[in-house]
Amino acid sequence: MRVNLVLIGPPGGGKGTQANRLTRRYGIPHISTGDMLRQAVREGSPLGQQVGGLISRGSLVSDELITALVQERLARGDTAGGFILDGYPRTEAQAHALDGIVSGAPLVIALIDVPHEAIVRRLSSRRICESCSLTQSVSEDAQAETCPYCGGRLVRRDDDDPETVRRRLATYASLANPVIAFYRARPGFFAVDGLRPLDEVTDSLVTGIERRAA
Ligand code: AMP
Repeated sequence: MRVNLVLIGPPGGGKGTQANRLTRRYGIPHISTGDMLRQAVREGSPLGQQVGGLISRGSLVSDELITALVQERLARGDTAGGFILDGYPRTEAQAHALDGIVSGAPLVIALIDVPHEAIVRRLSSRRICESCSLTQSVSEDAQAETCPYCGGRLVRRDDDDPETVRRRLATYASLANPVIAFYRARPGFFAVDGLRPLDEVTDSLVTGIERRAA
């Protein structure tokens, strides 16, 4: 089975967590454009210097730049059995571009649906490990929690402060609908309710993927 999976959903809606589970299950790479850009910023590469300001303000980087990055990533050998895209495509132009990159190969598109009020609650407790980049949720009164996996320091992402979260959600709301409309009629498209417990969301994703994958 080859799985060319696109995960769509609001920031903080659980895409990253579910992608990590699916990548282990299917042995295909989890390609998160947000992670790729944050890594470039950490490394201080030319790309990182170009996009650092945009990311911390919660604005999107250009379709051309992100598409070139995804095209290069999908050309690597580890995608021979498929891939999990998380955070791309975010605009209709990117969705068109992706069809070109995969030369029309069938995509499985999973929408993880979560209402915006739930997102604001989730993102205020979200932390990312400085060492291993895993995302965790912390209790509200936590001061200096450490990563349960590697002991690294847990920090709030710059773009998870409430003001920036509101901007990211507004951007998502205006851009995601055309992307969803672009995919909705395809046989590879399905939606899951992201408010349910994590394991149930994973089960629904696995069922949906296995019904549709080539
Ligand atoms: P994420 O981790 O997916 O929430 O992405 C974090 C940030 O990276 C976004 O707020 C954007 O600034 C940038 N980014 C990630 N993916 C894309 C994309 N497909 N198009 C434009 N900007 C992106």
